[in-house]
Amino acid sequence: MPNLQRMSMFPYQQPDLSGHFGPYGGSFVSETLTHAIQELREAYARYQHDPEFLREFHYELKHFVGRPSPVYHAARTSREMGGAQIYLKREDLNHTGAHKINNVIGQAMLAKRMGKPRVIAETGAGQHGVATATICARYGLECVVYMGAEDVKRQSPNVYRMKLLGATVVPVESGSKTLKDALNEAMRDWVANVDNTFYIIGTVAGPHPYPMMVRDFQSVIGKECLVQMPEMLAEQNIPAQQPDAVVACVGGGSNAMGIFHPYIPFESTRLIGVEAAGEGLDGDRHSASLQKGSPGVLHGNRTYILQDANGQITETHSVSAGLDYPGVGPEHAWLKDIGRAEYVGVTDREALAAFHYLCRTEGIIPALESSHAVAYAMQLARTMRPDQSILVNLSGRGDKDIGTVADLSGADFYCRPSCQGQSVKGGEQPIKIVK
Ligand SMILES: *Cc1c(COP(=O)(O)O)cnc(C)c1O
Repeated sequence: MPNLQRMSMFPYQQPDLSGHFGPYGGSFVSETLTHAIQELREAYARYQHDPEFLREFHYELKHFVGRPSPVYHAARTSREMGGAQIYLKREDLNHTGAHKINNVIGQAMLAKRMGKPRVIAETGAGQHGVATATICARYGLECVVYMGAEDVKRQSPNVYRMKLLGATVVPVESGSKTLKDALNEAMRDWVANVDNTFYIIGTVAGPHPYPMMVRDFQSVIGKECLVQMPEMLAEQNIPAQQPDAVVACVGGGSNAMGIFHPYIPFESTRLIGVEAAGEGLDGDRHSASLQKGSPGVLHGNRTYILQDANGQITETHSVSAGLDYPGVGPEHAWLKDIGRAEYVGVTDREALAAFHYLCRTEGIIPALESSHAVAYAMQLARTMRPDQSILVNLSGRGDKDIGTVADLSGADFYCRPSCQGQSVKGGEQPIKIVK
């Protein structure tokens, strides 16, 4: 149970009624969308504490997603690091393989109650698209997913998954043909079809109430940890009730907010967000909005963004498509400014090393996004004592990334399971998945 003594001093009530986290957040949308946003705010205000809504949400999380996800003591890794005990919150074990489904269920339940039969979403790597297509199949909603044409090519297995689930995938040919272009296109669709369409955003970004609403739905992660950690720590005879640090990767920031938020009042628990440092924070091939960006407006809210001197959004890079985003949720901007959370960078190379390490040492194939958090936790553990602990949000599983990893490792990767480990017969060529 939460240690109430530690909860006394931090009155954290964010955002305010207009959706601001200090100077960040808010709602910057065209006039055509103000009505839709207002309607969504009212619907969320009405259902957010509604016992029947919450009962259904938790029923879905338990029976469809498989929650609660376990907390796992990475004992071998901890021993080899020779410092703090490392624990993994296993969001990789959720149905569809990541934390994204938690939020998508909440928003799809709102769509049903608001009488919107059509759902749209944008996706980068395809994980949010797959989660959305999954829940639309479950609830009988029409589903349209916007995806940059470049990402459609890079993530063909996820594109096919969405199609199997009955979704329409629209390749976006404008701009750099990646996530931010897909986002713009989804916004355009929403403006044209507000009457019958619900826009499911996949992270803690967008105009108010999205950052708050997505955080609330994802907070189930941290709430479970508050209950699970005392038991796990007691097993190792660690006197503390809660971990000394909580570490999560930050793309838009939803898995991090989901595990951070319930821990905000626990001031002796450090909260550490790990951004993608790509090829290094000294150049521009990274996605570290909080460490290298500056405040500005992107996708309906004010936050830290990666922009040039003229306010143009700059190209970002990360080995993991899920972290490759030039902005970040506004609540992270606020937690950074008030010093409650710290933000650090992990490079592509370090994340890949942690990916391979976790595979070999714990028997867990992590998502490349999550590998960033694992890499930092491994570095941090070495600076701490064995009676201290670090809780890592393992946001997703790495099945979707094995093509990328094989390609970067120079290994042959056979797309078809039937040719794995065999010589290729009948003129079939091994298919090398290109990132
Ligand atoms: C999408 C994704 C992320 C990044 O999104 P956040 O909103 O920052 O959580 C991280 N991990 C996995 C596995 C993802 O699929």
